[in-house]
Amino acid sequence: KRLGIALVGLGTYSEQELGPALKETNHCYLAGVVSSERDKCEQWQKEYNLKDENLYSYDDFDEISSNKDIDIVYVVLPNDMHAEFVTRAAKAGKHVICEKPMATSVEDCQRMIDACREAGVKLAIGYRLHYDPYHQEMMRLGQDEVYGKVKKLIAKNGMDVGDENQWRLDREDAGGGPLMDVGIYCVQGVIYTKGALPVSVTARFTKKQDPEKFDEVEEGLTWEMQFADGTEAFCETSYVKEQNLLRAEAENGWFELAPVAYEYRGLSGRTSDGPMNFKEVRQQALQMDDFARCIIEGRESIVPGEMGMRDVQILEAIYEAARTGKKVELHLEPFENLVE
Ligand code: NAD
Repeated sequence: KRLGIALVGLGTYSEQELGPALKETNHCYLAGVVSSERDKCEQWQKEYNLKDENLYSYDDFDEISSNKDIDIVYVVLPNDMHAEFVTRAAKAGKHVICEKPMATSVEDCQRMIDACREAGVKLAIGYRLHYDPYHQEMMRLGQDEVYGKVKKLIAKNGMDVGDENQWRLDREDAGGGPLMDVGIYCVQGVIYTKGALPVSVTARFTKKQDPEKFDEVEEGLTWEMQFADGTEAFCETSYVKEQNLLRAEAENGWFELAPVAYEYRGLSGRTSDGPMNFKEVRQQALQMDDFARCIIEGRESIVPGEMGMRDVQILEAIYEAARTGKKVELHLEPFENLVE
């Protein structure tokens, strides 16, 4: 049986990536949509052949509990709405995928994890890169110490954020600026390439070129993550500067993803021995299929809520370090699927 997914929030990511990916999945399919705009729901209904009773608004969303077509709710809303809709989905008895960043505070992450545990449903974060062969290769080369121990990492992810009237520039909606949105991939990449958790962070905000546009959130940020064995990661994120890099320098060589490291497609990478060469995949299709199989086979996701919470903890520490100018110590709980 293929499991039914309902997408909550029909914005850019749902429309351009998740919807199309759900045309390629083998273990799940798009069964319903949730949006405040009825017209949009009806457009999706036509394109994806959805039943009338599987279109919901945010207000009647809780009625989804009695809908047997829907096994999984996928929350694709602005960051500060994740906590509410994940807990409502859990109460409705549905398994949940939540987009990154998991929430805008560690407390919200904990509430979401608790709600899913109490309801006996699974929770995963939309960390699509764990399913991309280029990132899996970074994990393998780093964790298996193919070039010896990784001694230094560099991770940069930045973009021109565009339109000034969007939720990404609103502190309350987004919880922060580019660090929350795209810098989070640097945190992830560094951890799964090194195969360890950082023990402390240092950070500073970059000077704003457009203080009016970025009056609520940072325009850019540089930070470092220190590891117990002395390894250090140098990271950078921005809402004005395009940058994309994940690089590891090890005892006997180096390996990196560049100039496209964190995107949906077109990734490329090389090692000190030459280019990496992998077939392009549809990351989101693999990600959603794996979650469906976790439910069918009764196993945990490799990108569980605990990982989402761990990352929000690190993001909060980076902000604290940038605000105070001091090194912030981290005491992170390891968990089984830490680095896969
Ligand atoms: P978007 O602005 O394009 O879409 C947001 C959706 O939420 C819209 O349908 C909008 O109508 C709805 N919405 C409901 N209440 C809203 C409110 N109060 N303010 C604004 N919108 C409201 O955003 P997006 O780019 O689709 O991002 C949605 C989520 O997905 C974010 O958490 C983002 O971080 C995440 N995302 C993840 C990836 C990824 O690669 N995993 C990529 C893009 C976005």
